[in-house]
Amino acid sequence: MAFDRFGRNIHYLRISLTDHCNLRCIYCMPADQTFCPNHKLMQDEEILKFAQLFAKLGFDKIRLTGGEPTIRANIVDIVRGISSVPGIRSLSMTTNGVLLPKLAVPLKEAGLQRVNISIDTLEPDKFHRLTRWGKLEDVWKGILAAEEAGLTPVKLNAVIVKGYNEEDVIDLAAQTLEKPWQMRFIEMMPFAGATDLQTQQTITAAQIQNKIETEFGPLEPAGKYDGEARIYRIHGAKGELGFISSITLPFCSECTRARLTADGVLRMCLLREKEIDLLTPLRSGASEDDLRQLILDGVWEKPWGHGLDQGIIPLNRVMNQIGG
Ligand code: SAM
Ligand code: SF4
Repeated sequence: MAFDRFGRNIHYLRISLTDHCNLRCIYCMPADQTFCPNHKLMQDEEILKFAQLFAKLGFDKIRLTGGEPTIRANIVDIVRGISSVPGIRSLSMTTNGVLLPKLAVPLKEAGLQRVNISIDTLEPDKFHRLTRWGKLEDVWKGILAAEEAGLTPVKLNAVIVKGYNEEDVIDLAAQTLEKPWQMRFIEMMPFAGATDLQTQQTITAAQIQNKIETEFGPLEPAGKYDGEARIYRIHGAKGELGFISSITLPFCSECTRARLTADGVLRMCLLREKEIDLLTPLRSGASEDDLRQLILDGVWEKPWGHGLDQGIIPLNRVMNQIGG
């Protein structure tokens, strides 16, 4: 088991499979983003090796992310490999959904259990603006494909940006009236490269909740947290609403996560710059014991929380380079 110096048992690993993406969301990366060359990304067997190492340290939950994980070559084989690692009991993916119409069934058959799909608006023009070129109907088909394939419960993520989609929270929330989906609203977090947008155009979870309650009446607390999300329900709805308030109500004290970036670096806090390179030692022949020690040392040093309230913004990577 891996513990940090505050006694938190760290057992949830987010693995970024690539920093590349088939969209360019405005809050995630700058328009002129450049991407990591393929040889610097973890290769398939290196990803599997790390999954096995982390599993031996008690990590039992893995989420695949990116960039966009579904554009990774051999994605189905990667999922199949990780799902058969002893000790991994939960395997999920965060995706923009665009490629799910063709991948949902093979991914499910390979052992993927659930997906979170990002959808920030139900209006095609706004979706195009927010993603710089995406087509809403592709994502919608992806959501339906995920549900059909049994990658359930389907969870949807929306980052809310002032001046873009703050009015859309009503339509998004309304989807849960008839669908058993979990619609999650995320406070936009600031990273290097897009920080002007991210610090000036943040909408808080409380503001989002207010808008929804003005339309649908008081939300009923579902009495639980799902990861970092506080869960509610519109009265009589089939699905749920989640609020992720990383800025205004951080869940750091409960955080059990580590992140492995696509270039093989261990990052113990999304919003802190400190990183431990694991891929270079692996490629230069480090023993399993050496790698295990590097991971345990990294986990031990996990920061207590992020420093956004002191104005500390991570400047060394944007979101697609870390893995959301
Ligand atoms: N491409 C996939 C997707 O969009 O779902 C997975 C990677 S993406 C980086 C993971 C999640 O991070 C998405 O739900 C996305 O909306 C969210 N995200 C990206 N930039 C963000 C930011 N600045 N603040 C908060 N969430 C952000
Ligand atoms: Fe791509 Fe996801 Fe970032 Fe959007 S949020 S640009 S889909 S990695």
